[in-house]
Amino acid sequence: MKKVDYIIVGLGIAGISFCEQLQKHGKSFVVIDNGEEGSTAKSGGVFNPTVLKRFTAAWNASAFFPVAVDFYHRLSEKLQENIFVKTPILRIFKSIEEQNNWTVASDKWELQDFLSSKFSKSTNVAVEAPLGFGEVLGTAQILPEKLLISYRNYLKSLKVLLPEEFQYEIIQQKENTVVYKNISAKKIIFTEGSKVIDNPFFPKKAIIGNKGEYLIIKAPLLKLDVLLKGSMYVIPLGNDEYKVGATYSRDDYSIHITEIAKEEILVKVKSFINCPFELIGQTAGVRPTTKDHRPLLGSFEENPNLIFFNGLGSRGFLMAPLLSEILYNYVENDISIDKEMDIKRVIRWK
Ligand SMILES: Cc1cc2nc3c(=O)[nH]c(=O)nc-3n(C[C@H](O)[C@H](O)[C@H](O)COP(=O)(O)OP(=O)(O)OC[C@H]3O[C@@H](n4cnc5c(N)ncnc54)[C@H](O)[C@@H]3O)c2cc1C
Repeated sequence: MKKVDYIIVGLGIAGISFCEQLQKHGKSFVVIDNGEEGSTAKSGGVFNPTVLKRFTAAWNASAFFPVAVDFYHRLSEKLQENIFVKTPILRIFKSIEEQNNWTVASDKWELQDFLSSKFSKSTNVAVEAPLGFGEVLGTAQILPEKLLISYRNYLKSLKVLLPEEFQYEIIQQKENTVVYKNISAKKIIFTEGSKVIDNPFFPKKAIIGNKGEYLIIKAPLLKLDVLLKGSMYVIPLGNDEYKVGATYSRDDYSIHITEIAKEEILVKVKSFINCPFELIGQTAGVRPTTKDHRPLLGSFEENPNLIFFNGLGSRGFLMAPLLSEILYNYVENDISIDKEMDIKRVIRWK
């Protein structure tokens, strides 16, 4: 029997962040991941502490932001891969009213570091922005594919990755241990993203799948090296290729691409990009969201050794590093989780 401190199920940004916590504290673990592409793989990788619809700070941004920036810098160094590329976001103004709202917002203490008080004009003829842009500072592009490939390789080099589907029905729970096949651990940390709905220990009502689709376009005349935010994001991928989107489809766990999403994205992107482009791909993934837009951390009384780290919604990259610290302190140091994030709150949900 192999003895470890933890078994982690699922290797997206939640699983990676928790592995990093365990390594930091010298704990042993194995990761079981089926290699399917989850939300992290399908995401846009935008690292943004603001809400650009309403010009507000994202929930808890001032706490999440510094921990996450430090985390991705350290991880890039450790993996010898630059997975965190500092890139500004330019938000296209739709009206004079929006410009005024931006100015007011940029003066608020929680946004001062993030919303530049100066507007910029468009010098790119391929971008329709007659009222110019507001620039978001401190933002970055996380390269999800690079991150996942290099982290998997890293775990393989440590011989702690089991590339297989986790079988929930064969877990054996003992008083202070959980046994899975030939592995005995103190606890299992479930980080399966929206696929957690297949986990029989997880209450299905706690998570809402929110499907998002992107188009991949090739636009040699666009020449964009920033994250552009019009009615959708345009995300540079290099080689004149861009990810554009994403759509939002609530209560949708399917991962096939759709014509409806394609049409929606094309109409929106053509409203602010006026150069020709070729459609070269389309992707779909499912965001693990919750009805109160807060994460789900911790365990239920009946199964204290089965721990959940989920509900990262549409801001997984910003939140996961600090949430992994909070969860680690809960499981190792018995420090309670804030009620707002504690998974036990879902017991009261209808
Ligand atoms: C279209 C789209 C765009 C997004 N854009 C952004 C963005 O720009 N910025 C941002 O911060 N966030 C974005 N998000 C949200 C972000 O992707 C999520 O918040 C985050 O990736 C969730 O990570 P996770 O680790 O919880 O889940 P996942 O990334 O889904 O990882 C779970 C892993 O567990 C595996 N797994 C599940 N069940 C099992 C099992 N039984 N056995 C073995 N393995 C299993 C899965 O295959 C997967 O590899 C976006 C999401 C989508 C869908």
